[in-house]
Amino acid sequence: MTALNPDIKIISRNAHPDSSIGGGRTNLVGLTRSDISAALIAIGTPERQARMRAGQVWQWIYQKGVIDFSLMSNLGKDYRALLAEHFTIERPGIVARQVSSDGTRKYLLKVAGGHEVEVVYIPEKDRGTLCISSQVGCTLTCSFCHTGTQKLVRNLTAAEIVGQILVARDDLGEWPAPGRNPNIETRLLSNIVLMGMGEPLYNFANIRDAMQIAMDPEGISLSRRRITLSTSGVVPEIGRVGDEIGCMLAISLHATDDETRNRLVPINKRWNITTLLAALRAYPRLSNSERITFEYVMLRGINDSDEDAHRLVQLIKGIPAKINLIPFNEWPGAPYRRSSNNRIRAFGDIVNRAGYPSPVRTPRGEDIMAACGQLKSATERARKSRAEIAAEINPTTGATGH
Ligand code: SAH
Ligand code: SF4
Repeated sequence: MTALNPDIKIISRNAHPDSSIGGGRTNLVGLTRSDISAALIAIGTPERQARMRAGQVWQWIYQKGVIDFSLMSNLGKDYRALLAEHFTIERPGIVARQVSSDGTRKYLLKVAGGHEVEVVYIPEKDRGTLCISSQVGCTLTCSFCHTGTQKLVRNLTAAEIVGQILVARDDLGEWPAPGRNPNIETRLLSNIVLMGMGEPLYNFANIRDAMQIAMDPEGISLSRRRITLSTSGVVPEIGRVGDEIGCMLAISLHATDDETRNRLVPINKRWNITTLLAALRAYPRLSNSERITFEYVMLRGINDSDEDAHRLVQLIKGIPAKINLIPFNEWPGAPYRRSSNNRIRAFGDIVNRAGYPSPVRTPRGEDIMAACGQLKSATERARKSRAEIAAEINPTTGATGH
């Protein structure tokens, strides 16, 4: 897939887990079970044992959170040493960690190549949701999204995607005590939303592999219904979410006419509202118990009128759906304002009366800029602010500084 914006530099796509980490040793995180088996055979494990050994290693990594081979007590001592010689169990490093007054936690993680991604943990009464990133930056340029203004983009590997979950579980102290069954304990991290940085459907294979690891019953074992993938509308890939991952689907609609959506979500110029909705009507998992979520960011005077609300319910007629109204999260220099609470309520009432649940998302972690669309790496921010300073000093040459 080529970038829509020629200014954006794609560093790599679908890169394999970075085997350069750990001095040539291979990182086992992010590999499928059969990849692990093959890797074990390659270091001399007898073929007839490889599946069982891979299963044991898998459980240590994903059920117990172990990063040190010497702790894998059901494997022989020599075998543990052999594993340590050839493999590592790596997570992205934490560069910064912020905790909001409402308990929301934001992590800035470093991934291979010195890039940074953000991950947010949002505790609620009945669940704890981890908002994870799929790319460094995003090739798309939605005009209300801070991530979309970041120019540097690369796909995260499956290891880096799963690694975000492992880092959060480390920090939450969520690995079970020896002998305890992890599946019956109350989970702090119970849900995942692919709503951080990046467009998950431009990194499909790695997202799929990572989510399959997250759902594996002998590991993190999250149910597919507790994972939600959000897309801006990469139409050709949408059906694969149902077929190959099986998680819940959210669509960033945000407008009810093509002219407005072209401005807000420029991918609409490639696949417009009619095309998008046709793909959703053909979605393999569509049913009343597995509704599609439409995300709708409330932008003052742009997409929040009563007419928009009426048009919205006409557009989605016949699609089992829920409309998630997101008060716009403002960021420094953003070209939009958040709709008033009254306007959001009036809009929601119209949608609700038409039979669609329309919850308003409560802004969380505002004091640490942890909300959707505000995620952007710190290095990029620093670079931007230097460019801004340069622009102030010399308005003709400073603005493009990277
Ligand atoms: N790229 C994917 C997923 C990441 S964005 C997508 O666009 O769907 C996750 C959600 O946050 C999307 O619905 C996106 O439109 C929304 N979002 C982005 N910037 C926002 C902002 N400043 N305020 C509120 N929501 C925002
Ligand atoms: Fe990318 Fe989603 Fe932001 Fe659009 S809203 S720029 S698709 S991360």
